[in-house]
Amino acid sequence: MANFVVSENVAAMHGSSTMIAAQMASEMRAKGIDVIDLSVGEPDFDTPEFIKNLAIEGLRSGLTKYTPAAGLAKFRQSIVDFYAKEFGAQLTPNEIAASCGGKQALFNAACSLLDPGDEVLIPKPYWVTFPEIVHFCRATPKYIETEANDFVLTAEMVKAAIGANTKLLIVNSPNNPTGRVIPKDELIRIIELCASRGVYVITDECYLFFAYPPAEPFSSAVLPKDVREVVCVAGSFSKTFAMTGWRIGYTIANPEWTKAMVKLQSHSATHPTSFVQYACAQALDSFDQTKAAVAAMTVEYERRRDWLIPELNNVNGFKCGMPEGAFYAFVDVRGLLGEKFPTSAAVAESLLKEAHIVVTDGEGFGADGFLRISYATSMENLKNAVKQMRELFAKG
Ligand code: GLU
Repeated sequence: MANFVVSENVAAMHGSSTMIAAQMASEMRAKGIDVIDLSVGEPDFDTPEFIKNLAIEGLRSGLTKYTPAAGLAKFRQSIVDFYAKEFGAQLTPNEIAASCGGKQALFNAACSLLDPGDEVLIPKPYWVTFPEIVHFCRATPKYIETEANDFVLTAEMVKAAIGANTKLLIVNSPNNPTGRVIPKDELIRIIELCASRGVYVITDECYLFFAYPPAEPFSSAVLPKDVREVVCVAGSFSKTFAMTGWRIGYTIANPEWTKAMVKLQSHSATHPTSFVQYACAQALDSFDQTKAAVAAMTVEYERRRDWLIPELNNVNGFKCGMPEGAFYAFVDVRGLLGEKFPTSAAVAESLLKEAHIVVTDGEGFGADGFLRISYATSMENLKNAVKQMRELFAKG
């Protein structure tokens, strides 16, 4: 048989470096190696018990068949109600579609909008999947450097980057990998600018509920309808409810964009699992219980952050700003680079080989010279990791 030739669309993509790092950690564990996995952004908390029980309830009630491709009517309504209660957003169910995780939400949004040759603005550093989706659509990423402003995107930066072929901007706040949060007023300015220039915006809000005071969660779903016309919010339950394996997310976009995404999804995953949709809808309806569960996780992430960041700054060659949201430390290791470590990938490799610590190299995020450290893991793991890092990179 002839050699398999991969399609040009898929050949244009790179594998997900976050998933590759996570895979590496689990393979090492399978070999009996005691690994400290600081790679993937996956909550170490279990899914709250009441959500598991709701899924069982949905299953037992006979929700074992197809749902509409856009998701159960109940699921769409519960998102509308939750966003009204939590943020004061005025949405309608025809602006909501259920998806198999935030990643499929992003894929649906981009693939139903982009044509070959369209230009897509992506602020750097970016979550690894953004450019790959753009490549898959045969569109062209145009990167915006943000380091000069401590990795926070501004309307000025976007204004300078918009060109004749710009179709879309992808923003992510709180940000993976930097943990930075775009201030509410600035984000509104950015989206208003895009709306005035006919540029669409996908806002990846999967860390929305993990912003540490004084940073505040801001959802673009609250923007006035005329501005929201250009916006697609990609939401996810994965981080919010510590349910990464359940694969459930959603989009909030204008009814026409939503229809296009649902059409696309009806030919791929069809819809996320029926009783998982039920569990999420019911969980959102149990507003106080849900808020309490998320708040407990946020407080714990914040405690870890407060301990971890000063400690990382005490490791020779490491420099790390204070994340305002999400659960990643984004460490500048350029101070270590030289003959021994030509790249941050070499630093990551040495952590892996010498200390069995798995981190994600910055290159996949468009940030060579940095490492991403997930603190969605126990304090014990973090303490052990920091101790070993200090030894490994000790001066002299
Ligand atoms: N979003 C998480 C991360 O960046 C999970 C892995 C993934 O979906 O790529 O680590």
